[in-house]
Formats: sequence, C-alpha cells, structure tokens
Amino acid sequence: MYDYDLLVVGSANADLVIGVERRPGAGETVLGSDLAVHPGGKGANQAVAAARLGARTALLARVGDDGNGRLLLDSQRAAGVDTAGVLVGGAPTGVALITVDPSGDNSIVVSPGANGKLTPGDVRAAEALLRASRVVSAQLEIPLETVVEVVRRLPEGTRFVLNPSPPRELPAEVLAACDPLIVNEHEAQVIVGGELAGSPEDWARALLALGPRSVVVTLGAEGALVATAEGSARVAAVKVDAVDTTGAGDAFTAALAWRLGAGAEPAEAAAYAARVGAAAVTRAGAQVSFPTAEEVAAL
Ligand code: ATP
Repeated sequence: MYDYDLLVVGSANADLVIGVERRPGAGETVLGSDLAVHPGGKGANQAVAAARLGARTALLARVGDDGNGRLLLDSQRAAGVDTAGVLVGGAPTGVALITVDPSGDNSIVVSPGANGKLTPGDVRAAEALLRASRVVSAQLEIPLETVVEVVRRLPEGTRFVLNPSPPRELPAEVLAACDPLIVNEHEAQVIVGGELAGSPEDWARALLALGPRSVVVTLGAEGALVATAEGSARVAAVKVDAVDTTGAGDAFTAALAWRLGAGAEPAEAAAYAARVGAAAVTRAGAQVSFPTAEEVAAL
C-alpha cells in the first residue's frame, strides 16, 4: 500500500524576523531587536504539521546549499518528515524578511530563491514519491507550472489538495483536480476573480462552479465551511485564547488532507482540522506552535 499518508509539494523558507519600533521609510535606517531565524514556508509548515500529528509525511521541495537550507532540513527531520525528496542547490534557500512593530503588524519581503527553481522536471523525477503517497497537497509559493505538473502526474486514486496561497487565477485542470480547494476569504476572492457576494456558502458555490470536487473555506475564529455539489456544512471553531495565528491555515490544511486520506467524512475531517488550527493559535510562531495528536485530543 502507500508508504506516505501525505506528500507535501511546496515551499521551504527561512523566516528572518526583527522587531522594530517603527518600519523605516525610503533611505532610512532603524535599529531593531536581535534577529530570530525560524523554519517556515507553507510547504515546510504543512509537512511538519502533518508529521507532528502522526501522519507518515514526505516533502518535495528545494532549498539552497546553505545554512538556511540545513536549518529547514533539520526541522523537517526533527518532526519526522521524510526529506529524501528535498532537493538541494540551484539558488539560495527562500527567505522571508519580516519586520514586526509593537502593535504586531508586520512587513514582509519574500525572496523565493530555491522555491522558484522547483521545476516540472523535479516533479517528473519524483514519480516514485507520488506513487507512494495517498494524498498530495500543494500551495502556490512554487512555480505554477510545477503545480500543474503535479496534477498531470497524479496517480489514479491519489487525492489532491490545494491551498492556493498566495492566490492567483488557476488553470481549469488544476481546479478540477482539487478535492478540496482550501481557501480563506481573500484567496476565494482572487480565484473567483471579483468581489465576493453574499455569505461563505455563496462563495463556496461560486468556487465549486469553477470545477473543484470540493471546497473548504477557512473563516479564522469563525471556523470553516465544507462544500460539495451536494451541499455545505459549517464547522465550528474551537474557542481558545488566540496568541498568534501564524501558520494556523497551514496546520489546518495538513490535518484536513491527512484525515481525508484516512477516509474521514469531509465535515469530520474539517472538525479535526479546526481543532488543530485552534491549538496552533494558542502558541507563538508557526512550526513550533503545531500540536501533536495528544495535544489535539486534550484541547
Ligand atoms: P493563514 O493566515 O495561515 O494563511 P488562513 O487565513 O488560511 O491562515 P485561518 O482561517 O486563519 O486560515 O485558520 C485556519 C483554521 O484555524 C480556521 O478555519 C479555524 O478552524 C482555526 N482558527 C484560526 N484562528 C482561530 C482562532 N482565533 N480561534 C480558533 N480557531 C482558529
């Protein structure tokens, strides 16, 4: 049978974070806090989140042959992710330069680096990994043509899950493969291509009309909505004291993909994912905030 419950195809970034009193204007220099370096990127985050829950997880990604790349590989391995599919070299590891002001607002500059060099050819070379995986999930911090190749190479019976972040218009063949397409309000708006009218149920209908087999809309502290052609269901959020919502969407997506692959009904899988997302917002940071299965059960 399958060697992996989940294969994540996506980005790996080093998040370089500096606290500042205020952000500098053009030509200005400001002093900030000590630098903090965290493993991040949506692909790497999803893989760590799934592995921490107990899913047998592999990552197909590209990092640079540098210290940040080694940091990312170490954090994946520490979480139990199989990193045989992580390619090294071609460009520096992707970096997000993040400044955070005292109110918690941040400004981010992303250098995609090696993420931009994860090619359709890399996907073709990873055919064995695709065949060994029950579910494949992707995001859009890697080239779109690479995601298209994943969809084209998807073995019969393998489920494909997409969180289109950062959002952009998507080819019909990618949309048609999604089961589900997982979006927040902003992502839904970009994919539908205009102002979203009405309720999240209406957004889900507009998205389903574009071809995905199912849609999940994440609604932050309001929970989520699961929708198929047969109808939709709301999933309540778990009430928690939110400390930091960074990575909640990645944790939710990973948990949902894993549970769906294990055969859970969509509403049941989303309810579990909502518990994982809620647990992730109770702690600061992204990967370090992701819960184990025991922590989810205790929530
Ligand atoms: P990201 O900002 O990471 O891209 P997102 O916008 O895709 O996230 P969110 O809707 O913020 O995703 O969070 C995903 C899920 O996590 C939600 O559907 C919800 O179940 C849970 N969640 C997020 N924030 C909270 C919160 N404050 N309280 C309880 N649950 C939350």
